Amino acid sequence: MKNNISVLLYHQISDRLPPDSNPDCFCLKSKFIEQLNFIKEHDISVISLEDAELKLNNPLNKPHHKSVVLTFDDADIGFYDIVMPILSDYGYTANLFVPSAFVGKKSEWSVHIGSHAPIMDKNQIREAYDQRIHIGSHSHSHSKMNKISPNNLYKEINTSKILLEDIISDAVNEFSYPHGVYNNDVINLLRSAGYKRAVTCNAEIYRNPRDNFEIPRNYITSEDSIIDFRAILLRE
Ligand SMILES: [Zn+2]
Repeated sequence: MKNNISVLLYHQISDRLPPDSNPDCFCLKSKFIEQLNFIKEHDISVISLEDAELKLNNPLNKPHHKSVVLTFDDADIGFYDIVMPILSDYGYTANLFVPSAFVGKKSEWSVHIGSHAPIMDKNQIREAYDQRIHIGSHSHSHSKMNKISPNNLYKEINTSKILLEDIISDAVNEFSYPHGVYNNDVINLLRSAGYKRAVTCNAEIYRNPRDNFEIPRNYITSEDSIIDFRAILLRE
């Protein structure tokens, strides 16, 4: 087995598709549990993005052991109500990306999770942090980063970092590009703001730790059967 890591991208997880939500950004709770069972039965390690980078930088460290990173964008209330208790049962960590302008409010953007999904509040984010969930920024206002002025980019990148660090009293080192769009200017601003890595929606396997501001992720949706999931997870 080569030294590579599957980074999975989830948005909403629920018993049924919430109204006004995008089916492409949704996974049924029963399917999510089936996927975690697959991970557990195959003795695949669930690690954080930070540990994934460390692992790729040290290929001699368990080279034959497959690892996966679970990432969740948008921090809708379903993460708190449904995903966190499940992750706790399995003892798994995850990386959660929060759009800081919407903490404790409802989403106002029109893709991914619909425009009225409640977003986790400060206490819930803090609880997630206490459960060893890694908190990252999903920008401030969930805007397309390649379409906004330099002044607003500062807010999206630096202000969101500061606001989230204030909530968890710890460093926020990771960023998830809203809508998966970015360019080199955005990457440079992320580096100068002190971020250590960023995730995209490019559906590839994570192989090269030097790609740490363009980490690929594979979408998982309710359309994916467990056979599809296996294929994504075990891609070489
Ligand atoms: Zn999003």
